[in-house]
Amino acid sequence: MRFISFAFLLLFSLPAAAINLPQESRVPGGIALIPLTNLNSQTAPSAWYRGNRVMVIPSQATAYAEQAPWLAVIGIPLSAKANQPQLMKTDGQRFPFTIQDKAYKEQRLTVTNKRHVNPNTQDLARYKREKAEMVAAFKSWSTPKLSTVQFDLPASGRFSSPFGLKRFFNDQPRNPHSGLDIAGGQGGAIQAPAAGKVVAVGEYFFNGNTVIVDHGYGLTTMYCHMSKIDVNIGDQLNSGDSIGKIGKTGRVTGPHLHWSVSLNNTRVDPLLFVAQ
Ligand SMILES: [Zn+2]
Repeated sequence: MRFISFAFLLLFSLPAAAINLPQESRVPGGIALIPLTNLNSQTAPSAWYRGNRVMVIPSQATAYAEQAPWLAVIGIPLSAKANQPQLMKTDGQRFPFTIQDKAYKEQRLTVTNKRHVNPNTQDLARYKREKAEMVAAFKSWSTPKLSTVQFDLPASGRFSSPFGLKRFFNDQPRNPHSGLDIAGGQGGAIQAPAAGKVVAVGEYFFNGNTVIVDHGYGLTTMYCHMSKIDVNIGDQLNSGDSIGKIGKTGRVTGPHLHWSVSLNNTRVDPLLFVAQ
């Protein structure tokens, strides 16, 4: 039976090209690529990790094709620890995996708007509402035709702050840096790094003018601190379409694009998706 279903799958999937994969890095803030061995179903199995649905894509014509027809692409949170067992599940199967530690550097920044370091009660209430809106967008689940899990850079400029830095604002510890900062200059162009649909547009307390794009299967990208937004919720974007302009709205020390990539509602290192 397994031979028949596998042959059927091959027959109907041969013409399609390989989906470009992100770079695997089994560390906090990284990505695990896990072949769903022993699952030869013709439709993508549903998989879960830490309570979130996981991206599952056909492995055909990739380096994983020999191992299984389906491949899970999993985002690992920055808070994950190397000594904790990691577990992805499907209906009826468990896929444990291990990760390694990664030492991210510290960054100390001085922010002049003190409310951006010690928000008042109203600011916190506002942030709570905005956070819920962002998380809802990160949890978007759509199933477009997918040809790539790689991105072009959304802006040109110096990488001023890498992903994962342990952050101190005015000497107070805060959450680690959940994206990549690109210092492209005030008004610099921001373009869609791949096709996707706009699922959130907001003017947020910390993130300033912000856009979130859903690329399908739990993969979303976020653009923050913009001076101008060129899109609306529901817009379907092609790779290279304008999203807006670089700015310095929200909690910033100068104009830059904060670009974050989320997989299974987990912020991961954007550069793992950019072909070298
Ligand atoms: Zn940033």
